[in-house]
Amino acid sequence: MILLHICCGPCTIYPLKVLRQKGFEVKGFFFNPNIHPYREFRARLRAVEEFAEIEHLEVIYEKHYGLREYMKSITPYYEYPRRCEACYYLRLSQTAKLAKELGAEAFTTTILYSPYQLHQLVKEIGEGLAQTYGVPFYYEDFRVGFKEGQDEAVKLGLYRQSYCGCIFSEEERYYKKRRKEVARKRRALPW
Ligand code: SF4
Repeated sequence: MILLHICCGPCTIYPLKVLRQKGFEVKGFFFNPNIHPYREFRARLRAVEEFAEIEHLEVIYEKHYGLREYMKSITPYYEYPRRCEACYYLRLSQTAKLAKELGAEAFTTTILYSPYQLHQLVKEIGEGLAQTYGVPFYYEDFRVGFKEGQDEAVKLGLYRQSYCGCIFSEEERYYKKRRKEVARKRRALPW
């Protein structure tokens, strides 16, 4: 069994298809204390439940709204990209820990599907956690199926979010100055 960390419904479509095609028995894990506000957290959780039912996918859900835990874990790294590094680490370390407890053969994440994430950094964090927990991290560049997954999400009528998740990404969505700042930083990053 491979434990697939799930960030949201639409991002699960393509990775799930690929993993199943490769012969993996997939179990999902929804753990995203980064999602703000609570209403958005509920909307994304519901979309995963909806999709999991269609696909007969077993998912372990962390339904607790972990705002405080999330803020503690990213403090003092509020600025991009350090906060994303802390955010990936928080979500993937819980996934690796659970994979170990469940005796999974590997773990991976739907974060590898999004072209908006720091892909190489996610890979490096996953590989580092694999060493720590003694469970392999399955890496694949799921971004190649981004359009296919999004088209399918539209067909299924799944809820699709318009910002990454945290309060800072919501700010960047509406506040042009911050959006520009992040775009500038992103261009200078090695990942
Ligand atoms: S922008 Fe996305 S990855 Fe970065 S900290 Fe916010 S929710 Fe996490």
